[in-house]
Amino acid sequence: MNVRTTLTTILSALLLSVGALADHHNEKPKIGYTDTPFIPGLKWRVHDGTRPQPRVVTPGTTFSHSAPAPGDATILFDGHSLENFESANGQPAGWKVENGYTEVVPGSGTIRTKEHFGDFQLHLEFATPYKVEGSSQGRGNSGVIMFNRYEVQVLDSFNNPTYPDGQAGALYGQQSPKVNASLPPGAWQSYDIIFETARWDGETLVKKACVTVIHNGVVLHHKKEFSGETLHRRVGTYDNPHPPHGPIYLQDHSNPMRFRNIWIRALGQYDQ
Ligand code: MG
Repeated sequence: MNVRTTLTTILSALLLSVGALADHHNEKPKIGYTDTPFIPGLKWRVHDGTRPQPRVVTPGTTFSHSAPAPGDATILFDGHSLENFESANGQPAGWKVENGYTEVVPGSGTIRTKEHFGDFQLHLEFATPYKVEGSSQGRGNSGVIMFNRYEVQVLDSFNNPTYPDGQAGALYGQQSPKVNASLPPGAWQSYDIIFETARWDGETLVKKACVTVIHNGVVLHHKKEFSGETLHRRVGTYDNPHPPHGPIYLQDHSNPMRFRNIWIRALGQYDQ
């Protein structure tokens, strides 16, 4: 190897190293945040993009047809009328009803049940838009938000990477689901949510809100506690006691999500 070749080789190696360093320096997580607080009891930050992605599980059940509700269930949406819902500002619900489902009209606002519930078993079915638009949190986003405080995330999580505490079935910003049981865009999917509300004795918290979430027949959470109210980029608390009953909200997050076959069974001491 002559001197010139050697110098060229060394120079190339140096340039490669500098390039690698520059690449490393510019490396940013593709998803999530690095400047958010840690979630109490976990080693992950709120919306941590480095948190392990839940394993993908193909559900064994499909929902081409809605199953009938149990005999003692309260039907919240039967496919024909949103009379049991209202807009979050108390006006009539602004979502479209057609073909046995209701569809979010983006911008019309989040809707909520008129009736208030305490502890309950809730069933609903949803479909993310068949036409895929957006990515991460911008794709097929909605949510089931108990009492306007505790959100079980609804998202198109079929081949759609996002921070794990924000994917389908997450306790948003807190707990990622055990697995990813999402079906493809446009397919009907189900949530069965068993929720126990938080309780206080005066100002003293005696029980955190907790939830079991079953997605397409697959358990995502079992009696998992919320660490407080759902917030974006922040950690919620139980600093503000709330009544043991509240409405259930379905979120307008600007995506034309569809819902159908929504029923609920009240449980617990507050519902006798
Ligand atoms: Mg949401």
